[in-house]
Amino acid sequence: MASAELIKKLEETIENIPDFPIPGIQFKDISPIFLDPKLYEDVIADLAANSKGKVDAVCGIESRGYLFGIAIAVALEVPFILIRKAGKLPPPIISESYDLEYGSAIIETREGQIKKGQRILIHDDLLATGGTTEAAAKLVEKQGAVVSQFSFLIGLKGLHGEERLKKFGAEVYHILEY
Ligand code: AMP
Repeated sequence: MASAELIKKLEETIENIPDFPIPGIQFKDISPIFLDPKLYEDVIADLAANSKGKVDAVCGIESRGYLFGIAIAVALEVPFILIRKAGKLPPPIISESYDLEYGSAIIETREGQIKKGQRILIHDDLLATGGTTEAAAKLVEKQGAVVSQFSFLIGLKGLHGEERLKKFGAEVYHILEY
């Protein structure tokens, strides 16, 4: 559980942009966090403390999952693995496809970077429907590793993302909830 001060500071800093990128979406813009290095440090300290001793590697989801994920991995002194959208990583790769509202998408990792039996933290900036995160978790399990935690700065209530992740039996942590 993050401190009340951290939660308050983040609530004041993260901007809500109504109807972006399409009508009906309340877009949460995390970019003002990077204008405040002390706040960024506090976010990393909170996310790293929550995972300390519980994970052997961190997987970050492209692209906002990298902004905090790498720093969490460095703080924990564990490897960081990039989960990328299709076509960006050179071979050999492992992929997982998943359904979007319209059509489908593919995410990938470099083969061999995730090791069998590793306890993995999957990190992204925000949990909405959980579709991307669920695909990331399948990609991790496909490689013989175990998803032991999911972490986000923000969890959006009402989109059932957390329910979708329940089947992996891993802790779901977010600093803020809207
Ligand atoms: P989902 O797969 O639905 O959980 O979507 C998660 C991804 O979409 C995250 O990587 C977010 O960066 C992005 N995203 C979804 N909804 C929002 C939102 N309301 N504000 C900002 N980013 C969002």
